[in-house]
Amino acid sequence: MKCKPTAIPPAEEIDIPALREKYRQERDKRLKREGQKQYVQPVDDFESTYEGDPHMPVKSREPLSKEVEVAVLGAGISGILAGVDLKKAGVTDVCTIDHAGDFGGVWYWNRYPGIQCDNDAYCYLPLLEEMGYMPSKKFADGAEIFEYCQSIARRFDLYDNAIFHTLVKGMRWDETLLRWRIITDRGDDIRARFVIMANGLLNIPKLPGIPGIHDYKGKMFHTARWEYDYTGGSQKDPVLDKLTDKRVGIVGTGATALQAIPHLGKYARELYVLQRTPSTVDQRINPPTDPEWVKTLKPGWQAERHANFQRGALEGFLPGEPDHVCDFWTEVNRNLAAELEAEGWPELSPEEFMERREVMDYRVMERMRRRVESMVKDRDTAEALKPYYRFSCKRPLSNDDYYDTFNLPNVKLIDVSTTKGVEEMTEKGFIAHGKEYEVDCMIFASGFEVSSDLDRRWGFDVFEGRGGVSIYDHWADGYETLHGVMTHAFPNLFFIGYYQGGLNASTTEQYHRQTSHCAYVIREALARGLASVEPSKAAQDAYVKHFHDTAIDMTDFQRECTPSYYNNESETRIGSDGREKFRSFLGETYGPGWTAFEKMLGDWRDQGELEGLVLVADPAR
Ligand code: NDP
Repeated sequence: MKCKPTAIPPAEEIDIPALREKYRQERDKRLKREGQKQYVQPVDDFESTYEGDPHMPVKSREPLSKEVEVAVLGAGISGILAGVDLKKAGVTDVCTIDHAGDFGGVWYWNRYPGIQCDNDAYCYLPLLEEMGYMPSKKFADGAEIFEYCQSIARRFDLYDNAIFHTLVKGMRWDETLLRWRIITDRGDDIRARFVIMANGLLNIPKLPGIPGIHDYKGKMFHTARWEYDYTGGSQKDPVLDKLTDKRVGIVGTGATALQAIPHLGKYARELYVLQRTPSTVDQRINPPTDPEWVKTLKPGWQAERHANFQRGALEGFLPGEPDHVCDFWTEVNRNLAAELEAEGWPELSPEEFMERREVMDYRVMERMRRRVESMVKDRDTAEALKPYYRFSCKRPLSNDDYYDTFNLPNVKLIDVSTTKGVEEMTEKGFIAHGKEYEVDCMIFASGFEVSSDLDRRWGFDVFEGRGGVSIYDHWADGYETLHGVMTHAFPNLFFIGYYQGGLNASTTEQYHRQTSHCAYVIREALARGLASVEPSKAAQDAYVKHFHDTAIDMTDFQRECTPSYYNNESETRIGSDGREKFRSFLGETYGPGWTAFEKMLGDWRDQGELEGLVLVADPAR
């Protein structure tokens, strides 16, 4: 069925200057001088700490002393893809290390009620054609994704050499051994010729540093460590029946909270939703996968869907191009394409295109606000739930039960925007607008260390390259890489994530392209009998210059946005290019775009020279 544009308010009904001013006021209300420092890590007396595992008992074991060809740090989707690509490249001695008890990454840790993929699963789940698998629905359940991760790991024999329940605390390049020495919380000595950092973006939970948080005597946990023993139910059967006599507070209304809140509202005696910034919440439309549609798919369909989603979510559709994904992620560009189609696709400069896109953004956001109004009965609650910011300022969401939850008599929205977050916690609960609310349990859906300083994000005490240089000093003024995956003075080391590479709308597709690039370099290094490869300073400087010279400056856009991890909580810093910027993946991606980036790397690989890398021969080989 052809995907149609959505019914949105006409441009005449939207007063853009007035809305722009309203957006600004709403942003200013939330600007916090502390920036990233407003958050703390769940440590010490906090029950569900980052180190603990509520899902699987951690068994004691003797420290390992082990030599491996490639250590992959992280067993989430990027770590799994690294393992798969290495195996395909003929590199078999691959050791995956993770502090979880299994493969899965975020899908291992996050098992809160209602967890589903918020992206089109036909894009998000990698290797679908190769695995002969089809997600059961468009927004697949977390449990299904977790099981799919395990099945890929089984298919590619990644379990054979995996080390779980082991937290990497640091690593050092040993110049005598020409190996990375990996330090873990188990006292291991793991020596790896190559290391791939597949340690994820959303892995370290953070808590708001609310005054008095440690005085609270009731139950507390972070959503990434959900405690079903306390709430009742399980991930696959989220009947939270132990909450029926409990008063519960939940902090946050982001992607995670939104999925859990309908379940909490259904069971808790009282539920207080503490909201600082409302999310954009569209309808979900999540039917089971249609087997008739599956039969129509031709080989190569997933790559085609990725490319289509990239244009739908980020770059803009081509004339006449259908929208395969057809959901809230692609709505702005889909509607804009329909307008341009009706005008016979006029020639637009990039600036004109962005202006048209901005108007569409305001209209789509107005549709979202009207949606709240039509669903939430209490006027004040509906008003507080309306999002006032540009569509791409925060992650857009969809959920069919979220707004209805606020019509339940036991559920109360507490708007903490004017106090820039929850004011205070006490022994018995929390204080909002001067009133104490007693609660039995506080749940923190307060997100992860995404754009904070690297030591907080990675949790490594030591990370030293050649000559003992610390990565934290090396990148103190911002990333410096060759192609976003390697950096000078850190031989045989590869980064997967948002450093200085291309941005794909599908995170897992982006990771996959990076892992296959790393596997290529490692395969070549081994085939050529090299002890080490690392970017030369000159090649790195040239790439960094090119990266900065061609960067699209997102600073003004990000400045207008309400604070979040998308704009580093509105905290700017001066980058290595001397410009003020908000550190986030939006500001650290290749300006000429995904296709240009992939072509650049493809040409580099085709050339076959490993140009720009310093190749050190291995005397022992
Ligand atoms: P987020 O960082 O998106 O949300 C954190 C929430 O906590 C925000 O609502 C934030 O408010 C709130 N908060 C933080 N501090 C305070 C405070 N002091 N007082 C009140 N509220 C506070 O975390 P999530 O876990 O929701 O999501 C993180 C990311 O994980 C998503 O953006 C997404 O990328 C991913 N995810 C993906 C899913 C998927 O389906 N693929 C599902 C769930 C998550 P404010 O907005 O004002 O800062």
